[in-house]
Amino acid sequence: MLQVQTIPILSDNYAFLLTCSQTGAVGIVDPAEEAPCIAAIEANGGRLDMILLTHHHGDHIAAAEPLRAKYGARITGAAADAHRLPKLDRAVVEGDTVTLGASLAIVIDTPGHTRGHIAYHFAAEHALFCGDTLFALGCGRIIEGNAEEMFASLAKFAALPPETLVYCGHEYTASNARFALHVDPDNAALKTYAARVTDLRERGLPTVPSRLGDEMAANPFLRAPDVASLFRLREAKNKF
Ligand code: ZN
Ligand code: FE
Repeated sequence: MLQVQTIPILSDNYAFLLTCSQTGAVGIVDPAEEAPCIAAIEANGGRLDMILLTHHHGDHIAAAEPLRAKYGARITGAAADAHRLPKLDRAVVEGDTVTLGASLAIVIDTPGHTRGHIAYHFAAEHALFCGDTLFALGCGRIIEGNAEEMFASLAKFAALPPETLVYCGHEYTASNARFALHVDPDNAALKTYAARVTDLRERGLPTVPSRLGDEMAANPFLRAPDVASLFRLREAKNKF
């Protein structure tokens, strides 16, 4: 069993603390601010074995080195981006497995937001850590890649089981919901999802993780039928 704790960091980022309940092994995904990550680690027993990075942006890696120094954790990240990530203890490529205690993640290559972006899929636990590739009701900005790459990356997620929990890197859901309703105003599943988002945000609660099945029904980027549609959607969202 993998327990996942969502840690709000910076202005709208999330890091995730992962605990294997069988072995006590602890990992953290995308730690980019020391204080809240350390507070969560300490409250969880003061142990950190592994740091998992999705991509090289500062708002995902900034606390990786200090956490490695403090806890002796090993840093895992994309081999393709090793030159611009903190020094990796394990450089991974698509299809590699990452072991946290008794839990196994498969590495998925997901270029589009950045060239060396990867995601971690804990299949048995139905947990996907997808950084800035897929967001709840949105997708990442295409900064280094192109729409074709982003389309292929999103298609990999779309093939995962609908019960998969999507742990994305930012709390962008409310603004994503406004755009989604703008482009797909008659989608009943989207309306239901958007109402839930409004309710959660009014109560100050995170909208992450979301269920992949709900994203498949409501997320316009995941529903885009082809590369050209995805490109147009992403352009429209940039200007929205
Ligand atoms: Zn990013
Ligand atoms: Fe980010």
